[in-house]
Formats: sequence, C-alpha cells, structure tokens
Amino acid sequence: MDFKQLVSHCKEYGFIFQSSELYDGLAAVYDYGPNGVELKNNIKAYWWQSMTQLHDNIVGIDTAIFMHPKVWKASGHVDAFNDPLVDNKDSKKRYRADVLIEDYCAKIEGKIKKDVAKAAKKFGDSFDEEQFRATNGRIIDRQAKIDSVLGRMNDHLRDEDMVAMKALIEECEISCPVSGTKNWTDVRQFNLMFSTQLGNISGEEGKLYLRPETAQGIFVNFLNVQKTSRKKVPFGIAQIGKAFRNEIVARQFIFRMREFEQMEMQFFVRPGTEMEWYAKWKETRMQWHKSLGTPEEKLRFHDHDNLAHYANAAVDIEFDFPFGFKELEGIHSRTDFDLNQHQELSGRKVQYFDPELNENYVPYVVETSIGCDRMFLAVVSNALQEETLTNAEGQESTRIVMKLPHPIAPMKVAVLPLLKNDENLTNAAKDVVLQLKKHTQVTYDEKDAIGRRYRRQDAVGTPYCVTIDHQTLEDGTITLRDRDSLEQVRLSVDDARAKILSTTQMHSIL
Ligand code: ATP
Repeated sequence: MDFKQLVSHCKEYGFIFQSSELYDGLAAVYDYGPNGVELKNNIKAYWWQSMTQLHDNIVGIDTAIFMHPKVWKASGHVDAFNDPLVDNKDSKKRYRADVLIEDYCAKIEGKIKKDVAKAAKKFGDSFDEEQFRATNGRIIDRQAKIDSVLGRMNDHLRDEDMVAMKALIEECEISCPVSGTKNWTDVRQFNLMFSTQLGNISGEEGKLYLRPETAQGIFVNFLNVQKTSRKKVPFGIAQIGKAFRNEIVARQFIFRMREFEQMEMQFFVRPGTEMEWYAKWKETRMQWHKSLGTPEEKLRFHDHDNLAHYANAAVDIEFDFPFGFKELEGIHSRTDFDLNQHQELSGRKVQYFDPELNENYVPYVVETSIGCDRMFLAVVSNALQEETLTNAEGQESTRIVMKLPHPIAPMKVAVLPLLKNDENLTNAAKDVVLQLKKHTQVTYDEKDAIGRRYRRQDAVGTPYCVTIDHQTLEDGTITLRDRDSLEQVRLSVDDARAKILSTTQMHSIL
C-alpha cells in the first residue's frame, strides 16, 4: 500500500484528521480521531509500562509545557536550535537548505538504484549487487558525488557556515521544485522555537517558549525527583508530553509536525559509566521495537555523523517508512552538559551525593527519545496491507487489513448481531457487549451485511469479531472470528473472553 493510500485510509477510518480542516487546514498540525486516539494511547501505554513498570529504577514525571525562559538559554536552544533556511525569490517558497541538498543526493541515489535494478534483471540469479556497485564506473562516480556533497554539507552545518551552504546549493545547480529557477536568497539560520508572551510582563522579560523537547522538564526536576523518590544513581526519569517546533519543511504527514508528542527517558549515571549504559539502552530500545513485532529488516541503527554540542555518542533507530529509512528514535549520551548548564545559569547546585563513593558529582545522562506520532506512523505503515484471499471455491478477493499487534489495536473485539432487524439477536449481542466491556475495548456494529462489517473491522485492525446468531439464542455459543487467520470457531462467551484476553493484554508484548 503506498503512502497516499495510507494517509487517506487514516482519514477515512477515523485515525487522523488535518487540523482545522474546515478552514482548509493548518499545515503540519494533525488531530487524532476516535480510532487514532485509542491506538496512540495504547502505544503510549506500551512505552510507559515498559519504561516504568518493568524497570525498578525508572520513575515517571509530567512537567509543564511552559518553563522559565532561562531554561532554554541554558540548554542551548535559544542560541543553537536552528535550521538553515533558504527562500526561492521567484516562487517565494521557503526550504531547509540541508533538505534541498539531501533531496538532490536522493535523486542521484535513485539513479543508482535504477541501474542496479536493470543489471539485476539482465544478469538474473548470478547477479552480485555488491560487486556491481563496487566495479561499475557510472555508479562509482555517482556514489562519490553523493559522499562528497553530503560530507561537505555536514562540515558546513557543523561549522555553521551558511555562505558555504549556499555555494553548495549553487554548485549542485539545485532548482526550486515550484518555480524551477535557481534564484536563491542567502542561507540563514532560523530558530525553531515558538514563542509567546506572558500577560503581566512586557518585552523580552516576559517572552516564553513552547518547549521544543520534554527533556528539560526532567533535568530541572532532577533533584526533586531524586530526593522524593529516594532513587540512587543509576536511575531514570520518564515523561510523555507535547513538544513544539516551528519546522520549515512541513510534509510527510505526521512524520514532521509542528506540534507533536515525545516519549523521553533520561537515565542518570556515574560519570565514566555512560558508554556501558549507552550500549545497554541501544539494545533495550531496539528490543522494544522488535517485541512489538516490527520486522528486523525494517529497523536499523544509524550513528550520527555530526554529534550535537552536548553529546559524546548518539545513534538513531531508523524505520523503513513508505518514503525510506528515517529517524524514529534517538539514543544520546548527553554527558553532564544539561545539568552543568542549569547549575551555572541558576546559580544552584545540581549534584548527587553518591553514598557508595562518598562523593558529590553531576551525573552523566543517557537519553532515549522517541516521537509518539512517528511511532504511530511506523506502526500503521507496518500493519496496513492489501491482502488477496481465496475462498473454498477458488475465487479471489482482496481486503484491506491492519495487522496491528493485538494489545495496541484500538478495539480488541467487535460484537456483531447477524441480523439488524431481529431484536432477539440485537439484545443478545448487547448483552455480550456488557459481559466484555469491563475487560477490554469492545465495539458494537449492526449495520450492513456481516461480510462488510468484518471488512470494516479488518480495516481498523480489530483482532476479533464475535458474531451472534440464532444458535446463540439456543445454547449461548457465539462465533469468534480471527482477523489474521480468518478462522471461525464456536465457543461459549466465557471461553471467547478468555481467548480474547489471552492475546490482547499488554503483558503479552511487554
Ligand atoms: P529530525 O532530524 O527528524 O528533525 P531530530 O533529530 O531533531 O529529528 P530529536 O530532537 O532527537 O529529533 O527528537 C527526538 C524524537 O522526536 C525524534 O526521533 C522523532 O521521533 C521525534 N520528533 C522530532 N521532531 C519531530 C517532529 N517535527 N514531528 C514529529 N516527531 C518529531
């Protein structure tokens, strides 16, 4: 299923709507519909439970979106949370300079892939892609071009050399996708934080930012949490919450939003032990994705080429989105940078007394940071499929099915009376809903033929359907249909409930 179909499926089935659609929408801002909010809450619960419930040494927190403006000075966001921006003078469209350059390289990569595909077709089974890439002159040249351009771009970004960034755009002869011209403004840095104003203080003094990450709420509460929870280093603090970034490039649906949600965990460790913890969290987080059933070949690590000023190691977990491998989660060894900065700007000590070492120190931090919305997109793009079915007579049909892991599906079971106009059946079905709804997420549907109702549930990922027919009225048994195998079995309501609960509760993936 391609990306466009995925986006329209999300709308049609009440997962995601464009914000303010009635007014033609607000770019890069989205609302979650009835199915979307359930799925998103389940993803959050999966993260939260695996962080806090499964780790004795991690506690949760929920901090405010607004923070003292000095927090963002200390963290470096006021001075350095920038993207390089460039405008096309003809179309008046604004771009991220690094994205223009990356797209240019992606086009060259596309040409390489075409050559590889052609050769694969020509040589058949004997084709060795690695060897072909290493020996084909045209491919070698193209790869060298990509490496050179990206290498230089990273250098310029690190050195904040915007003049060189513009020169690179000109050298690559990149033109505006809208106007087609190469008439660019200078490249300049653009701060990604949204700001607003306190009501009772005017001017710079009263300037507030909408937090661009949740992490700082954890750092400034480090001592509060440590003291009140009596945790000893190493320990972690987890938080789920909204973050805001004034992204220049608003595209790819909920992959890059201006208002989004983060699930972050800061793990405080003894200085010098951070690399061990970094390795451990890398592994733990990858395992978390795999436990959800995400196939291994859709996940990979990508080490950062350029380390942020605060980090001594950083890696992304990338997912193979419909538009290619992109960052889903970051794992960063942030050293003692943040706590030190807060000590300095607040003038207060932010230190931990280690009773085993009998000394005070500023802990080092390893963080794991994942976008809830990006995770949502990864989950849906992995689960949503068009499947060809063959019936007993050998006839083929297709269905759209969202093969979500059972515990995170918006609804776990749909209760369906076979006929809408038979009150005995609808009453019996409503009675089954009553028996199930305290245990799990249940939906009821009586409209349309039973086959169509099954398809509707498949399309939103409901793992089970319970059908009530005339036999139910006689012996109390129902038919339980499995979303993936399509198998139907007759069971008592109690047995059906036990079966549903055995696969849909969170502990089966934790
Ligand atoms: P990118 O390079 O894609 O802009 P980033 O490196 O700036 O991301 P971090 O600051 O490390 O991202 O944020 C941690 C996580 O938050 C990311 O891995 C991603 O899942 C999520 N995230 C960041 N920006 C956005 C956004 N604009 N919309 C949705 N999720 C986001």
